Amino acid sequence: MCNDFTFSIIKPNAVRTGKTGPILAMINENGFEIEAMRMVKLTVQQAESFYAVHRGKSFFEGLIEFMTSGPVVVMILRHEDAVDQFRKLIGATDPAKAEPGTIRRTFAVSIQMNAVHGSDSPENAVRESNFFFSEIEKYC
Ligand code: UDP
Ligand code: MG
Repeated sequence: MCNDFTFSIIKPNAVRTGKTGPILAMINENGFEIEAMRMVKLTVQQAESFYAVHRGKSFFEGLIEFMTSGPVVVMILRHEDAVDQFRKLIGATDPAKAEPGTIRRTFAVSIQMNAVHGSDSPENAVRESNFFFSEIEKYC
């Protein structure tokens, strides 16, 4: 299995407002290699399955509506200690609590529309990558 990779999504608000380029630049400047990338529009079923762990929470329905509101960019990113390093680069879920210089602090507009997703564990990086990319697209 591949090590040292994580899975990321540039969320609809960021894509819609032209932040894809600036976010990709920050990702590259911080030493992450983009290994696979695609623009997709999630179906409700896909979004619900991707975020299944949050089903039943107060923000779940709003999150699904938001994540299916327009195209997103899905990516596999390579870096040493990729999951933790990328969570550091994106910052806290709530942009008000994210450190200056993080992607969320820079580009998020709310806790929901927080610009990017990053996997929270290597196991979830595998699970989430498999959602969108076939084995043949992953170079190990
Ligand atoms: N979210 C939200 N309201 C909240 C918490 C989370 O709308 O109070 C959204 C937000 O887009 C977040 C996603 O749900 O990125 C998943 O939540 P999680 O707690 O897993 O945060 P993350 O792992 O993305 O930092
Ligand atoms: Mg999470």
